[in-house]
Amino acid sequence: MPTNGSCLHCGHRFFWLVRRHHRKCMRCRREWSPHTFCPIQGFRITRAHWYRVIDTFLRDETGKAVEKECRLSVMTAHACVTVLRRIMCVDVPETLSGICEADETYLGGQWKNKRIHIRRQGTRRGRGTSKQAIFGIVSRGQKQVRAWLVSNTKIATTRPHITETVERGSTLYTDGFKGYRALPRYGYRHDFVDHDAGEYVRGEVHTQTLDGYWGLLKNFLAAKGGVQRRYLYRFVGEHQWRYNFRNLSRKEQMFRLYQFLTRFGGRK
Ligand SMILES: [Zn+2]
Repeated sequence: MPTNGSCLHCGHRFFWLVRRHHRKCMRCRREWSPHTFCPIQGFRITRAHWYRVIDTFLRDETGKAVEKECRLSVMTAHACVTVLRRIMCVDVPETLSGICEADETYLGGQWKNKRIHIRRQGTRRGRGTSKQAIFGIVSRGQKQVRAWLVSNTKIATTRPHITETVERGSTLYTDGFKGYRALPRYGYRHDFVDHDAGEYVRGEVHTQTLDGYWGLLKNFLAAKGGVQRRYLYRFVGEHQWRYNFRNLSRKEQMFRLYQFLTRFGGRK
């Protein structure tokens, strides 16, 4: 049992014994039983409470809301939300197939908003910038997306993501970057639009679906008011999950997250 005799709700060590097996905290005056089951290792939170935390998080996206609505401490709410985000990073579609689009973009605010010493280093856009690169693939048929933070956008970095995720024989649409042109050698049908020549859509060949996703992602991150680069992967993972499972009802989403939570953080 996780209680160690201390309060399940606030951690206070002193309690009264009330009724059989039940305890009442001398500080917060809430009751619990030593048989109360806390399904996730390291959290003194019951299953019903977890469902409430997940519900609040899915609706409101912030740790602050979880803290307020679920009456948790700042630290606990933050820990819960972090665990949920990390779970979301893991829960991804394994393979993409059919018609797919691959593209990369850069995250991190506009140059005009950067600090002066960063701006002095040069205002480069597109390939070669010092911003965080992100590579993504979207399947039009499955309507699902995978995104990775990458250190650069060279083909040697991004190709393993393609070959591991996209099924052979699928169709890939990309921009005109030369590295992509060797893709047919790996068993993909490939076509591209040449942005440099001002070509963005040629019939079915375009990367607009993925460009739309980048727009959503950037809005989502901007609403956070800036995310530290070392925590960026969690927020990208969270947004990816929300996008991939957007067609599930709230109840199904909650159930799915809880299943993942107990599989990875559950008690043995
Ligand atoms: Zn207490």
